[in-house]
Order: sequence, then C-alpha cells, then structure tokens
Amino acid sequence: MRHWINAFVTLIFPTVVAGLVALIWNTTLGLITLCLWLFVALWSERQNISFFESWLNAPKPGSRPAVTARWEQVFKGLTKIQKRQRASEAALSRALDRFEQAARALPDAVILVNKASQIEWCNTRAEEYFQLKLNRDHGVQIDYLLRHPAFRVFMSNPDPEITLTLRLPRTGADRLVSVQMIPFGHEQGLLLAQDITEREQLEITRRDFVANISHELRTPLTVIQGFLETFEDVPSDNPEIFARGVELMSDQSRRMNRLITDLLALSRLENSSVVHEDIIDVSKLTHHVAAEARTLSNNKHRIDIHTASDLKILGAEDEIRSALSNLVSNAVRYSPTGGTITISWALIHDEPVFSCKDQGVGIAAEHLERLTERFYRVDKGRSQETGGTGLGLAIVKHVLNRHDARLKITSNPGRGSDFSIFFSSEKIAPQQELAV
Ligand code: ADP
Repeated sequence: MRHWINAFVTLIFPTVVAGLVALIWNTTLGLITLCLWLFVALWSERQNISFFESWLNAPKPGSRPAVTARWEQVFKGLTKIQKRQRASEAALSRALDRFEQAARALPDAVILVNKASQIEWCNTRAEEYFQLKLNRDHGVQIDYLLRHPAFRVFMSNPDPEITLTLRLPRTGADRLVSVQMIPFGHEQGLLLAQDITEREQLEITRRDFVANISHELRTPLTVIQGFLETFEDVPSDNPEIFARGVELMSDQSRRMNRLITDLLALSRLENSSVVHEDIIDVSKLTHHVAAEARTLSNNKHRIDIHTASDLKILGAEDEIRSALSNLVSNAVRYSPTGGTITISWALIHDEPVFSCKDQGVGIAAEHLERLTERFYRVDKGRSQETGGTGLGLAIVKHVLNRHDARLKITSNPGRGSDFSIFFSSEKIAPQQELAV
C-alpha cells in the first residue's frame, strides 16, 4: 500500500497536477510544470544517492544522513544488515580465538601448512620442538626448516595412515617425535607431532629388564638342570655326588628366591602410590639392622653404631627398614674380614642423616652414577658370591624417592665407601621438631 502511495506521489500526482495546469491555462505551461516537478524530484534523489554513497564509503554505526522518508527505510534496512554482520563477525572471531587458544594449549605440536607445504600457523609446542618462530617462519616451506631426508620423502606424499619418527636435537638429550600429516580444509595439511622420548625410553628399559631377569634366572636354572641330568646318569649309591649336588641346587634355588623376593619388593614400591606415615624410631631400627648385619658378618667385622636416639621421622617403616638393611648388608658383603663398619643416625644442618661407612673394596668414580640401576654391578662375581641380586640399591633409590630423601655415595677404591641418606627436615616427626 505504502509502495502505491509512493508511486502516486512520485509519478501520477505530478502528471495530474500538470494536466490540470494544461486544462486551466495551456499545454505548454502544463508541460513546464511537469518538467520542473520531475527535475526537483530527480535532484532530490540524486542528493540522496550521493549521501548514500558517502555513507557507504565510511559507514558509522548509529549515524545516518538526513534523507527523505523513503531513503530512511533503505538506511534502516542496511543498518540492520550491518548490525547482523557485525554480530556474526564478532562470534566468528571469538570462535577463532577459542580455537587458537585450544590449539596452543594442546600437549602436542600442531603446524598448519598450505598445499605448497608453507607454514600458515603453528602452536607453541611446535615452535619448541622444531625450533620455529611463527612470526619469522610464516610462509616458509616446512621442509626447508626440517632438513631430514626421511621428512622430505614423508612430505612429498603425505598419508594420514603413516607416522614418521624423527630425532630432533635439543639441549641435553635429543627428542624423539612421531609425526603425522592430516589433510585439512582446502588442500591444507595439519602436521601433528607427539613427543615419544619417554615412551621409547620406557620401552628400552622394559626390554633391558626382561633380558636381565631372563639372564639372572637362567644361570641358577642351568646349574639345577645340570645336576638333575647328572643324577639320572650317576648310580644312586654315590651319596657324595648326591650330597654335593643337593647343596649346590639349594644354593641356586635360594638365589632364585632372593631374586624373586627383591623383584616383588621393587614391584610393590613401583605400584603403590600411598606412602604410610608411621613415626619411625630410626635409632631402634638401626640397632635391628646392625644385629642382622652381625649375623651376616659372622663376627668377621666390627660394627659401630652412633645414633641420636630422640630423632624420629615420618614414613613407611618396612620400606625404610629395607633401605637401611640393604646399605648395611652391602657394607658387610663388600668389606674384607676385620673391616670396621660405622653406622650413624644424626641431625646435620637440620636434616636427619643415616650413614653407613665401611672400609671395604670401594667403588671407582665412573660407576657411582649407575649404581642404583637395576642389575648394575661393579663386580658381578663378588656380588653373586655374597648372595647379591643386583637390586638392593635400586630398592633403596625407590624407597628414598617415595620419602623425598636422597642418597649420597662417596667412595675410594680400596679404602671404603660411605652411603648416606639425607631425609628432608619436613619428615622429622612433629613431637621431635619441638625437641630439636
Ligand atoms: P648387589 O646385590 O650386587 O650388591 P646392589 O644394588 O646392592 O646389588 O649394589 C650394586 C653394586 O654396587 C654392587 O654389585 C657393588 O658392585 C656396588 N656396591 C654396593 N654397595 C657397596 C659397598 N658398600 N662397597 C662396595 N661396592 C658396593
């Protein structure tokens, strides 16, 4: 309806007026009136269009030029569209920000490349792994930066099913990453890289562990099997051979038993996350451990004890006992007859310290770093002769890790060793703290 009124005012009304003028006066005056009317109407439309043009070039939200009512409608409509567009732009930009934040926070490296393998975007992890800088390397072809022959081949024919393992340099040990290329968007690619260094390391440790255990168990089993075969061939009335065989087989089965006991102890330590907080009277424990060591030594060594009897700590008593006992029994096993072993328990610079000193064979400096590894032995023969499993110090290390304590080993080959456990002052049992 409004549309028809507008059409009437713009076209029919001036024509009717011009007709009337022509009727009343003459045709020429009527035509002049019509032309004048149309000229004014055209002029006004021209003005509106030029306002519209300049507004379109720099549209200011909320401001609208003074125009006729009809154009007012056009401006209103346009302003509505403009507002809707702005709102959807803002939503899009928020979604992009969120996506970028999420991609930045990913624990893996992400690089977005275009069809020419040029870097379009990457997250912080990617900058760290591949030593990139997004500002600097944006638009650079990725295989220019990663000059690995295998990576070039991988990039020449990317397949999302294939993963490539790369060794990337970094300070300290190299980083191992598994790389995957996923097609994305319009001929773009998403390069994902995951740090697998720890996983690989665990896999190597697991393989070594299985190989070591198999090796450790094979020796006693071979001895037992050898004797059993001998018994089959030897006449049953040869008691000497039987007695000797049974003795050696018992030795070997005891060795296997010790090995399995230590393995189970290690596995318990690795698998339990809770550490009990008993109040441990370490002084009392030291006397127990020393008594066991005297039995092991068979009075071949002198064992001295110096303890601060009122110093107690918090922790799992059975674990601490096993750690102390391993250190003291090692001191006996690696000391020649007549050697003195000194066990002490004291507060040194606010830290409770348990120390076990011996005058034994000692350890060369190059071995110290690796002593707490499972099955690491300096002298395998001596370890086995004295009933060692190669797991004692690994157990000590685990126990200490669980109690926030550290082990310090000082040793002089041929002169003796000192194994000291430093507990944190926070582990001092509360009632003791007052006394200290
Ligand atoms: P093992 O059962 O072989 O004694 P451990 O884990 O207890 O295993 O010790 C690892 C190695 O550390 C031993 O094989 C030995 O070579 C060395 N070692 C440990 N304690 C002493 C010590 N008090 N004196 C000399 N060497 C020691």
